[in-house]
Amino acid sequence: MKKIVVLTGAGISAESGLKTFRDSDGLWEGYDVQKVATPEAWQENPQLVQDFYNMRRRDALAAKPNAAHYALAELENQYDVTIITQNIDDLHERAGSVNVMHLHGVITRSQSSINPLLTYPIAGWELKMGEVCELGSQLRAHVVWFGEDVPMIIPAARICQQADIFILVGSSLAVYPAAGLVNYVHYDVPKYIIDPKIPEINRIKNIIRIEEKASDGVPKLVKELLTGDPY
Ligand code: NAD
Repeated sequence: MKKIVVLTGAGISAESGLKTFRDSDGLWEGYDVQKVATPEAWQENPQLVQDFYNMRRRDALAAKPNAAHYALAELENQYDVTIITQNIDDLHERAGSVNVMHLHGVITRSQSSINPLLTYPIAGWELKMGEVCELGSQLRAHVVWFGEDVPMIIPAARICQQADIFILVGSSLAVYPAAGLVNYVHYDVPKYIIDPKIPEINRIKNIIRIEEKASDGVPKLVKELLTGDPY
């Protein structure tokens, strides 16, 4: 079975109603990320950070997967698929994808604020101050903040090296180290990019640019990959 590796970013969930960053001037739902998505922000104002992620969790739980998420799940009928997502929503899983690696964590889980390996499912949308891990430390959202290590980056790079086909959907490739993953894909491998505003990507061979919204471009590409009909 051929191996397809898909790297997704905020753009794939845009049509599910979850806003991206870059389309909103580097703000996340109106917030400066430095004030809500960094270890310094947590030190300064943990309640604000907790509230911010509670809102993101509430929005993500209310959102539904769109045609792009569902199409990627269908690929598993004929291919060995791994989705590496930068998104903290769980829309790929809810669309039926089985192999989903969350590079930046997932909003439906909490994490110990002293040991990032201790994570727990969250019942509902709200994580409260005073809720603690088994070590007694405050629980925070299980997300990777700017300035924190990305523990999944090494396994993700290994998976990219195994790709026979690579697909990038809805990422500005502005956030590292995730943006560097494409460099691990073999130069021979076809690399499809689906985005209404294709990010600049130089020195990489075999790029096929599909300048469309995810909900249009992804189902068409998936149909081509499943039936052999030209895109
Ligand atoms: P980004 O905001 O930097 O870039 C979004 C990309 O999506 C852009 O290239 C834009 O042109 C494209 N896009 C916009 N609408 C689209 C559509 N309908 N179809 C396809 N593409 C579309 O996103 P990023 O590169 O993922 O980096 C942002 C970081 O912010 C990520 O690390 C992520 O953790 C976090 N984030 C996550 C979510 C989420 O979980 N849904 C939402 C916002 C931000």
